[in-house]
Amino acid sequence: MSTPAMDNRDGSIWFDGKLIPWREARVHMLTHALHYGSAVFEGEQVYGGKVFKLTQHSQRLLDSGRLLGFDIPYNVGELDAATQEVLVANHIGSGYVRPLAWRGSEKISVSAPESSIHVAIAAWDTLPPYSDEARMQGIRMCTSKWVRPAPNVAPFAAKASGLYVTSTLAKHAAEAAGFDDALMLDYRGQLAEATLANIFLVMDGELHTPLPDCFLNGITRQTVIELAQDAGIRVVERAILPGELGQASEVFVTGTAAEIQPVREIDDYRFSAGTTTRNIMAAFDTLVGR
Ligand code: PMP
Repeated sequence: MSTPAMDNRDGSIWFDGKLIPWREARVHMLTHALHYGSAVFEGEQVYGGKVFKLTQHSQRLLDSGRLLGFDIPYNVGELDAATQEVLVANHIGSGYVRPLAWRGSEKISVSAPESSIHVAIAAWDTLPPYSDEARMQGIRMCTSKWVRPAPNVAPFAAKASGLYVTSTLAKHAAEAAGFDDALMLDYRGQLAEATLANIFLVMDGELHTPLPDCFLNGITRQTVIELAQDAGIRVVERAILPGELGQASEVFVTGTAAEIQPVREIDDYRFSAGTTTRNIMAAFDTLVGR
């Protein structure tokens, strides 16, 4: 039996200030966001009934809206409280939260500075995607032809829907070629990130990761940097060229959904999850209360 579509589930969604039945959380086709990508969102993970780094996610949603030129009509405290309300209403102990904010349907011209801004928050239960053993074997990646854009091409620090056009194209192409995910370079040809996660390389016991100067500086990325530094591991944020993958012994990607995911293959390069990756995964598990 196929799983029901995301719009066909039981439960409640917080929609413009109140909980409504899941199937009624709809928008009109003449909505600015659908045509021009004027929407921002978050992806949050629930551990033991609580969202990990909730306030940071709520703040990033507001910041993303501002980067797209709109003010979300709720403050961080109100978004945090609404999220908690959604978790309770849907009995989510461990799961995923998806807040979304978007320009409404008052005008369908590109210029719509006065449009209403809508906010909705949905949450659902999730199961861990892989067993620990499968997870430790690592994912297989290939380099995408799609690159992360220059800072004057897109508001890269926003978690904006429109930016996911290339993530979707890169992910679909990688999957069609038999890989799990794509490595995306940036407009200069330097390592950027995966389609939905940041990337770290272990080189001589140090952690190297690209500077987030044209892609999302993930909350998990920032957490991993702190965990590594606390464990006495030196972290180097710098420009990394693809050829340097040959000097990396371990590689992993980080994100809210991926958490810390070892990578075993990128194009012709091979890696295995060694001590550094395992130590950071263990520290992360402790932090989220596993
Ligand atoms: N890059 C992209 C493009 C993403 O979509 C995500 C997931 N939000 C990340 C990086 C990782 O960010 P975070 O750790 O905040 O989930």
